[in-house]
Amino acid sequence: MENLLEVKNLKTHFTLPTKKIGATKPVLKAVDDVSFNVHRGEVLGVVGESGCGKSTLGRTVLRLENKTSGEVCYEGRDVFELDKAEIKHLRTQAQMVFQDPYSSLNPRKKINSLLSQPLRIHTDLSPAERTEKIDSIMEEIGLNPRYKNRFPHQFSGGQRQRIGIARALTLDPEFIICDEAVSALDVSVQAQILNLLLDLQDRHHFTYLFIAHDLGVVEFISTRIMVMYLGKVVEFAQKEELVAHHAHPYTKTLFAAFPTTNPHARETKKRVVMGDVPSPISPPAGCHFHPRCPHAMDICSKEYPEMREISPGHFAACHLLK
Ligand code: SF4
Repeated sequence: MENLLEVKNLKTHFTLPTKKIGATKPVLKAVDDVSFNVHRGEVLGVVGESGCGKSTLGRTVLRLENKTSGEVCYEGRDVFELDKAEIKHLRTQAQMVFQDPYSSLNPRKKINSLLSQPLRIHTDLSPAERTEKIDSIMEEIGLNPRYKNRFPHQFSGGQRQRIGIARALTLDPEFIICDEAVSALDVSVQAQILNLLLDLQDRHHFTYLFIAHDLGVVEFISTRIMVMYLGKVVEFAQKEELVAHHAHPYTKTLFAAFPTTNPHARETKKRVVMGDVPSPISPPAGCHFHPRCPHAMDICSKEYPEMREISPGHFAACHLLK
């Protein structure tokens, strides 16, 4: 399959301030040596607990954060090597839908203004053509075009997220990063937005990088799933393979925490141990998951496990899985 995005050994580290004079500044390794690719037309789900680096990963891919090292190649070009004109083009091709529909829309601007701004900056469309485009996008995302003269606060949370999606669609992108795009919504509204995203993908052949902490949401929408823990990828597979044969102990805890109606599955869950998430500023040595892992061995606190292909297309980083 053709790769739209290739990420190689990406690191995004942040040096934090310290009040002690002369002290070494702590470094937060939000994304730490992450490699993956996104096939054109797929939905790659990225799942993990809050603070695992998945949102920073999405922002770095779009060059909204600076990388520390590594490569992010979009259609074969490293996005950190692009000149001004090429970055402008990337901004039309790759868009982002943010988590919070309440704060991601400027409350002082009407929807018409919010949606026409990217068209004014990036296209030569006339005012009449911009209006036609905005009306057609609003219809496509299930909002009456008459509502474009309203302010964001006049919409419900689900409608505001539809407007966030509409804003991402204005420039006809091919790649959309959804960063916790449904996390702030009620469950029934989540389902509507997920279905809308899938309908849009059918119609426009979008490629999504779908970031969420909710395994159920990621499982519903994704083609492949990548599991992250404290800045690193710990497991990566086709969705069906990961659901049926998740092998990494951390992925198992995620699945165990996932609500189920199967009484036998509930029995299995009782055996799973969960502890506090360590600080990403000073992650545990060796396998970062070892303080919480029910299968930890001596080697786990000393050596970080290599990512290995444990079955065709199924990768995991765990000393147990050799
Ligand atoms: Fe657990 Fe060791 Fe595997 Fe880490 S490497 S997940 S500590 S068994």
